Amino acid sequence: MATTIISRVDCGLRPPRRPPRAMASQTGIIVHCTDGNHPTSAEDALARWRNTQRYHMDAEERLYDDIGYSFGFGDFGQLLEGRGWDQHGSHSGPGWNANYHGICYLGSGEHPTELALSALHRFICEHDLRYGIGEVLGHRNITSTKKICPGQGIYDYLVEQFGDRNPKLVDREAMP
Ligand SMILES: [Zn+2]
Repeated sequence: MATTIISRVDCGLRPPRRPPRAMASQTGIIVHCTDGNHPTSAEDALARWRNTQRYHMDAEERLYDDIGYSFGFGDFGQLLEGRGWDQHGSHSGPGWNANYHGICYLGSGEHPTELALSALHRFICEHDLRYGIGEVLGHRNITSTKKICPGQGIYDYLVEQFGDRNPKLVDREAMP
């Protein structure tokens, strides 16, 4: 049975500004985090997801067509739909966005809850059912940005689960 993902409508997201484009391939997953603000309740997680969309669509330095991430998750264990399956996102830069789904943790990711990690696990299993697991990476593995994305707790989980098969994850483990 497919895992439960709260649809973008049920999250209260606005429609995209322009019709979405399909991805070129589903090569893998890139994991992100937002910032130090963690949801205080399941309801608040949805509000933060809407805030993320507002920032991506309305902030002058962004002005994306939609929320940039494909999906979101957080400490209350929900999986939240953003652009959704097979839709070209704006999360990791040209090239990556057309071929990787981007999933974002709501918070800094230093100390994610077990519920958050189980949501990420469910997401990866669902991706596996649909397309194969592919390559699971942290944003920090593919960017030189100073931002540590995702936070260490999320990243440790990725290394523990996928380090064996993705040498790129381990290479960047010690990154500042
Ligand atoms: Zn990121």
